[in-house]
Amino acid sequence: MKSHAQVAVIGGGVVGCSVLYHLTKAGWRDVVLIERDELTSGSTWHAAGGMHTINLDPNVAKLQQYTINLYKEIEELSGQSCGVHITGGIMLAGTKERLDWLKLVRGRGRYLGMQTEFVSVDEAARLFPIMDKRYFVGALYDPIEGHGDPSGVTHAYAKAARVQGAEIYRFTRVTDLKPRPEGGWEVITDQGSLVAEHVVNAGGLWAREVGRMVGLELPILAMEHQYLITEEIPEVAASEKEMLHAIDFEGEIYMRQEGKGMLMGTYERAGVPWSERTTPWNFSHELLPPDLDRIAPSLEVGFKHYPAIERAGIKKVINGPFTFAPDGNPLVGPVRGLRNFWVACGVMAGFSQGGGVGLTLSSWMVHGDPGSDVWAMDVARFGDWATVAYTNAKVRENYSRRFRIRFPNEELPAARPLRTTPAYDALAGERAVFGVSYGLEHALWFAPEGTEPVEEVTFRRSNAHEPVAAECAVVRNGVGLMEIATYARYEVTGPGAEAWISHLLANRTPEQGRLVLSPMLNPAGKLIGDFTVAKLGAERFYIFGSGIAEDYHMRWFEAHLPETGVAIRPLRAELLGFSIAGPRSRALLQCLVREDVSNKAFPFLSFREMDVGMIPAKVGRITFTGDLGYEIWVGVDYHRALYALLREAGADLGIRLFGARALNSLRLEKGFGSWAREYRPIYGPYEAGLGRFVDLKKNDFIGRDAAAREKQDGPQRRLVTFVVDAADADAIGDEPVWRDGKVVGWITSGGYAHYVGRSVALGYVPAALAGERDDFEVEILGDRRRAQLAPQPLLDPQGLRMRS
Ligand SMILES: Cc1cc2nc3c(=O)[nH]c(=O)nc-3n(C[C@H](O)[C@H](O)[C@H](O)COP(=O)(O)OP(=O)(O)OC[C@H]3O[C@@H](n4cnc5c(N)ncnc54)[C@H](O)[C@@H]3O)c2cc1C
Repeated sequence: MKSHAQVAVIGGGVVGCSVLYHLTKAGWRDVVLIERDELTSGSTWHAAGGMHTINLDPNVAKLQQYTINLYKEIEELSGQSCGVHITGGIMLAGTKERLDWLKLVRGRGRYLGMQTEFVSVDEAARLFPIMDKRYFVGALYDPIEGHGDPSGVTHAYAKAARVQGAEIYRFTRVTDLKPRPEGGWEVITDQGSLVAEHVVNAGGLWAREVGRMVGLELPILAMEHQYLITEEIPEVAASEKEMLHAIDFEGEIYMRQEGKGMLMGTYERAGVPWSERTTPWNFSHELLPPDLDRIAPSLEVGFKHYPAIERAGIKKVINGPFTFAPDGNPLVGPVRGLRNFWVACGVMAGFSQGGGVGLTLSSWMVHGDPGSDVWAMDVARFGDWATVAYTNAKVRENYSRRFRIRFPNEELPAARPLRTTPAYDALAGERAVFGVSYGLEHALWFAPEGTEPVEEVTFRRSNAHEPVAAECAVVRNGVGLMEIATYARYEVTGPGAEAWISHLLANRTPEQGRLVLSPMLNPAGKLIGDFTVAKLGAERFYIFGSGIAEDYHMRWFEAHLPETGVAIRPLRAELLGFSIAGPRSRALLQCLVREDVSNKAFPFLSFREMDVGMIPAKVGRITFTGDLGYEIWVGVDYHRALYALLREAGADLGIRLFGARALNSLRLEKGFGSWAREYRPIYGPYEAGLGRFVDLKKNDFIGRDAAAREKQDGPQRRLVTFVVDAADADAIGDEPVWRDGKVVGWITSGGYAHYVGRSVALGYVPAALAGERDDFEVEILGDRRRAQLAPQPLLDPQGLRMRS
């Protein structure tokens, strides 16, 4: 074994081998892979090897497409066959809702260039002759689906990596990892030690154990998974073409040809975790005892829908474990607080995603940037609240729902409530319908008196439509009250605080007592954050941002923190707040504070400490509604008192609660973008309409040169607002934008803008089309709806209401 290496990849499953290959492809040759047994000896060897491009997150779908197209390349380099069969695939819908879901999936695939097509049930039965037509209403055909040989694929990655200089140590177990004071890691194995600058945890079934070596509890859990292989089926044996891959959503089963029979697997509702706390080190190339009773309900449907399978009899049953993250997407990237420690685990579809994961991680390590928008796979999307028990509950839920419809307005019930604020009970008493964001319960909308706080799940407008309209009207005409715990908040202190913020963020820093909006850019000039910064003292700042990105942003902040002079800490558990918004919000605030909060004395973008009633608070004059409004932040121990005070004092002014749904509607009609939708690391600030918040004149902030280039060259695409001629369903995000029969852009978010009474969608189009008005279409649930590009926000384009 070498004594030093630039990278040590731990784990020789399909994912670790892909990471190793991609590192060599990116030019790093001094890389080693350490495998405790033979390659593939975790979950990889017994996989069904199925590959598909469909994923509800378009960015993950793109990486799946990349993976499948990669196999030719590694076969050529390695001389090792991947055993790939591209048979095409068919997704079978048994209900109208499922058909709607497939339309949504197809729409999302369009702007990625995915060529899926709807086929009639008759055509589906011609393509997949063992199905019984009577149980289906439609089907989506995908030409790029198939299966590969799990061992062939893994060995092809490994050999291709070796050809390019990598070394692989088999039968060598990493037993411990120790950070070195001068950087890098001491990698201790049962065959000796080596020093590696970087470590990659691709430990698959043992990724938790490898994480624990560095004090990390990764949110992953293995589930048992079963598939069966049938005896020969005459219809299959007689077919000239290999059977398609098929997914039958109603039966929650997937199928493909295996020999002259079929392979059929299921994600059963009563899924069972495997090794809930620790994975045994002596588990290797082993299977678990089959349990057909557990999958009997799915098999029953399968036998009914595919009688030939029932007639054939079962030859073999495979039961093996593989790992999942709570939302079913991989965990990839650098880990906050651990220098040069990277993860590539929780990959539940290694043969569709392994290539994309390898590409992403290697780009991140070699170039400092993942190269695309990988939020859906970023390990930082889970915070410390994703504990072992949380993970257990969510992984079970996710497994059991793998083939079930997730409606766009559906909030899943497992592991809730977990994080709540002191106002939770009071809001629940007001019939709040809660959603969950970063583990936190927050009010989506409030059911009217006498009705149940339950939202029907649907692709179309729900029973929330009218109550949300009423909430919006209160904000625009009177005063609304909203809890704002879903925003992240940080305190930055120290003599170096101002210079540090100025280096990190693109806008100038605020004057004392003021707020500025400031994007954060990476060195390539792309958006990695959008914040509001407040200055409360020469050495004291508050930064407000997106709550879901707290770990993501803290990872960046901490990685850029100088050794002395600046401290940053998240105030998630210390500072909570409410927003009051609407033309009467000033009257409400004024009756609670001694300070003059008139427009002159406390203008737009002011930020000050003041007592609100008896409560010490920090008050900012800003809201995301686009109206006059304030954010009031207080210590957690004052939260309940603040709520009671605002309710009581606001009663005469007609105060009403509003939730996240109304806020979305209000910000859409103002054309305000939001993090993870309009603002993501694939857009530059000028494309995203944030150019006015980039101060190119100030000192050398991160991303400055790239931003200056974007400004000079002009953005390639632009964020625009569409008014959509919608029927009973609005855009939600990821719909294609059409013009002249071609897909020219995509929607980032949408909904019904109640105050202006229009269906609105925000999205990106090529800059050359941003000056056009007519002839656009937005595809909603398979229908191309006419859309008009609005040259300016639909409400108050001059921002007079906010400044009034
Ligand atoms: C029954 C079944 C069917 C499946 N079907 C499909 C399918 O059709 N399509 C699909 O895409 N996916 C399928 N999968 C999932 C697929 O198997 C996984 O996505 C994939 O194997 C994950 O690979 P990995 O490299 O992350 O993990 P693993 O395969 O578990 O590899 C991890 C490796 O790390 C090694 N390791 C761990 N700790 C250490 C250490 N400390 N020192 C040294 N080495 C270590 C282990 O020995 C192991 O070889 C299926 C899984 C099962 C169980």
